[in-house]
Amino acid sequence: MTDILIIGGGIAGLTAALYALRAGKTVTVIEKETFGGQITSSPRVDNYPGLPAVSGNALADAMLGQVMDLGGEIEMEEIASLRKTQNGFCVDTGKKTFEGRAVILATGARHRPLGLDREEALTGRGISYCALCDGAFHQGEDVAVVGGGNSAAQAAAFLADICRSVTVIQEFDHFTCDQRDYAAMASKENVHPLLSAKVKEFRGQDKLSGVVIRDQQTGEERELPVTGLFITIGRIPDTEAFRDLIACDGQGFFVTDDGCATAVPGVWAAGDCRQKAVRQLTTAAADGTIAAINACRYLG
Ligand SMILES: Cc1cc2nc3c(=O)[nH]c(=O)nc-3n(C[C@H](O)[C@H](O)[C@H](O)COP(=O)(O)OP(=O)(O)OC[C@H]3O[C@@H](n4cnc5c(N)ncnc54)[C@H](O)[C@@H]3O)c2cc1C
Repeated sequence: MTDILIIGGGIAGLTAALYALRAGKTVTVIEKETFGGQITSSPRVDNYPGLPAVSGNALADAMLGQVMDLGGEIEMEEIASLRKTQNGFCVDTGKKTFEGRAVILATGARHRPLGLDREEALTGRGISYCALCDGAFHQGEDVAVVGGGNSAAQAAAFLADICRSVTVIQEFDHFTCDQRDYAAMASKENVHPLLSAKVKEFRGQDKLSGVVIRDQQTGEERELPVTGLFITIGRIPDTEAFRDLIACDGQGFFVTDDGCATAVPGVWAAGDCRQKAVRQLTTAAADGTIAAINACRYLG
């Protein structure tokens, strides 16, 4: 029986482990794919305080090393379910179970991809899912945003102050963002909306050099030369396995209070998997800190 089981070894989970271990608790971090999570697919991070130009992998390795040096147990397993027991909680892979007195869910979220050929290969080479993270790499360039919701409008308005031009490619004939975000985007002279248009293909070998756009009404195709493409069409939280016990919002994000507590005493949620407004490394680390401190207080 571990004091705290942490599901997900991304920045939120590893930060939670660091704080819980330093508070003298026993901790097992269970990760299904890559310790470090999403950020390991980023070659360069420029907004993690104190570590300019760090690679996602270097950041993840340093955090994992810190957790292991403090005696954290790590397991490579995918957790398929969570249930309450008499003394705490049990998580299950289908073959293996782990028991803990408290649980921190830090399972993250993944960006919804367009699903086109070479999308993965060009990610970090022009294709990005995070304007806030990668916009600065495209200073003075022509870029495009895919999407028409609030996140897309916010991304376009943010990029407009950095890039030469921002084309917003929306597949419907209208934007679905709210009025405020629309107004902020529309107030920028270098933002060009492209409605009823869909990205069909990426251009460029090692780096993105453009996208092929199809007009949904006429069927006409043309190339748009852009060096950055920000795909902002939603996120998919990794919360399915836990929804029987832990409440989620309409989009599948865990619902918590400000202290990262779920409605189930003894279970916290931290990082991108949690319902919140800003999903970044710093907010994932902040959630991990808060969840761990509160879990330690709960355990006494
Ligand atoms: C390409 C890219 C670039 C980015 N750049 C920046 C940047 O420059 N600056 C910035 O602040 N943010 C950036 N972000 C966002 C940032 O990476 C995330 O906000 C942050 O990493 C979220 O951390 P997390 O621990 O909450 O989730 P994640 O990193 O998603 O980690 C969750 C972990 O849980 C694991 N997991 C999920 N389900 C299970 C399960 N059932 N069992 C076991 N393990 C499970 C996953 O495998 C994953 O490793 C970027 C994101 C991407 C994709």
